[in-house]
Amino acid sequence: MAQPTKTPTPAPAGRAAAKKELSEHFKQYKHVWVFIEQERGHVHPVSWELMGSGRKLADKLGVDLAAVLIGAPGEALNAAVAESFCYGADLAYVCADPVLQDYRNEPYSKALTDMVNTYKPEVLLLGASTLGRDLAGAVATTLLTGLTADCTELEVDTDGSLAATRPTFGGSLLCTIYTLNFRPQMATVRPRVMPMPDRVEKPIARVIEHTLGMVEADIVTKILAFVPDRDKATSNLAFADVVVSGGLGLGSLENFQLVKQLASVLGAEYGCSRPLVQKGWVAADRQIGQTGKTIRPKLYIAAGISGAIQHRVGVDGADLIVAINTDKNAPIFDFAHLALVTDAIRLLPALTEAFRKRLSPHTRDRIAS
Ligand SMILES: Cc1cc2nc3c(=O)[nH]c(=O)nc-3n(C[C@H](O)[C@H](O)[C@H](O)COP(=O)(O)OP(=O)(O)OC[C@H]3O[C@@H](n4cnc5c(N)ncnc54)[C@H](O)[C@@H]3O)c2cc1C
Repeated sequence: MAQPTKTPTPAPAGRAAAKKELSEHFKQYKHVWVFIEQERGHVHPVSWELMGSGRKLADKLGVDLAAVLIGAPGEALNAAVAESFCYGADLAYVCADPVLQDYRNEPYSKALTDMVNTYKPEVLLLGASTLGRDLAGAVATTLLTGLTADCTELEVDTDGSLAATRPTFGGSLLCTIYTLNFRPQMATVRPRVMPMPDRVEKPIARVIEHTLGMVEADIVTKILAFVPDRDKATSNLAFADVVVSGGLGLGSLENFQLVKQLASVLGAEYGCSRPLVQKGWVAADRQIGQTGKTIRPKLYIAAGISGAIQHRVGVDGADLIVAINTDKNAPIFDFAHLALVTDAIRLLPALTEAFRKRLSPHTRDRIAS
């Protein structure tokens, strides 16, 4: 008699197929860490933004949130440690050594890698700044773990894994990436992508000091002098409360002055879409979007901008988006709060004039501050 053939169990699809049991070694990894980037007494604001995200992740996981600080011993580092508690740290890991005065990849990577290997965090977040990107890549490579760069969303999955979402395929899709089998789960986030958490006055709590174990003679890179970059972007675009921005619909460099004039009357910063930078009309540090700046103003006025996804990801955090476009079907109207279907070249001067008459210099200063 013929035996019934056994139907093979179908293999689990997608993520379930990739998921393996975390090794015993990695199960010891606990707590969420945020790298606090500070240089020459200045903490990069993205670090505090990440403390807000880190707090949410730590609360969901039921673990501590730790700030990690690396730098030369002194007042600036102490102040940054104290400040990290005001932004929600339960404890701080500090590696202080004179060779860490200025950022160099070698000693900073060693410090952070050694701290991870010693204290074993399950999540490690860094700002996607120039320094943060350089450091994160080196540390992830040394630790042989996964790093998701330029995330726009961080969540804890049902099984406790970090779900790190970022744009992909030129920004046309969002993908969620998991580091399933290795620890820590690392992610970088660009400035202004996450909201700034409230600062609450708190005393310094637990501080764990870590020794670098490296001397100047061990470091190949030498700092001969510090020369400030005179051409460094001076715009405050990323942190402005009001931003007026122009796109290709304005048609010419001359018409782009209308954007600058309205911004000036409002005490606002001005920005643009990418094609205007490519045409050489506007400096690159004024570009808003996926490959430009991310902004979170209270008011964003976009004139002659279609609202492509690569632009949208840079302005999604704005409280109020006012779009001026001649095409009522322009994609920007899918996410703008106020749609003005009209010619920006005619409306912008009228708005400038109206605000000039109605806003006193005092009000303008208040908007700008
Ligand atoms: C990998 C990658 C990264 C990118 N990164 C960025 C980025 O960071 N930032 C960014 O902005 N783009 C970025 N882009 C480009 C993006 O895809 C779009 O091409 C770009 O945003 C379009 O710019 P725009 O809206 O100014 O021009 P267009 O798409 O040409 O839109 C012009 C708009 O103006 C309207 N218009 C025309 N005349 C007037 C008028 N008189 N008054 C009012 N409205 C008018 C039109 O109806 C149209 O909607 C990126 C693209 C890629 C592939």
